[in-house]
Amino acid sequence: MSMAVNSPLLLLYCTILAAVLGAVFGSFINCAAWRIAHGENFLKGRSHCAECGHELKALDLIPVFSYLFLKGKCRYCGKKISPRYMITELFLAAAFVGIVLRFGISGETLRYLGLSVILLGLSLVDLDTYRIPNGFIIAGIIWWAVTIPLVLPRDGVSGLSAWISPSLGVTVQSSLLGAFVIAGAMLLLSLVFDKVTGKESLGGGDIKLLFVVGLYLGLAVGFFNLILSCITGLLMVALLKKKRIPFGPAIAAATYISIMIGSVVVNWYIGLF
Ligand SMILES: [Zn+2]
Repeated sequence: MSMAVNSPLLLLYCTILAAVLGAVFGSFINCAAWRIAHGENFLKGRSHCAECGHELKALDLIPVFSYLFLKGKCRYCGKKISPRYMITELFLAAAFVGIVLRFGISGETLRYLGLSVILLGLSLVDLDTYRIPNGFIIAGIIWWAVTIPLVLPRDGVSGLSAWISPSLGVTVQSSLLGAFVIAGAMLLLSLVFDKVTGKESLGGGDIKLLFVVGLYLGLAVGFFNLILSCITGLLMVALLKKKRIPFGPAIAAATYISIMIGSVVVNWYIGLF
């Protein structure tokens, strides 16, 4: 169910569209994450400056460009606006372009664009609060269920290969297997680890998140993702020089990489034997 983007003009058009959409959704999720982290209702009310509370007008809300035009300062109070907002917008724009280039015009593309918005949102909240709200977990599960018909193999698969395949979780069976095995194993592992060390290792939110991404990745790529998440987490600890970092952003970043190259890596690995 995919159409390769093979005309250069169409490719250019799709790339620009993906970048713009990514920046717009980045701006939306930035705002939603800020409100969730600060205990505000994220659907109600207008955007306002985090410093002076002045309501923002349409001109102040253009992703990336408003920040550049205003030279990173609030138009009303002149206080510095964190570059974090612009960086996130650019980040999601790049992530969207990557997905479109990887999956073309397809159901997969739609599915992973939506997932990356959810992953970015929960990462931002987790960075601020060390919590992953259940709303993101539920959104991830609903989006998985809504988009599974878009990615089911067209000729159908049956038997064992419907459960375990080296590709992403594109059947209901492989999705459920990936989610339950990986989240279950991590739950068990963290319970044992906590008992032995007397410290909390993985939060409940992290395990729920591993369940959600397991749905999208299936067992084989999900396992690759687990290893990658741990490496990413360790890198974050080293780079940020903090003792404790939220694990959600590490899982989210690893999941994005797993979606892009996970099945290639797993197939290569299987080919070694
Ligand atoms: Zn202000």
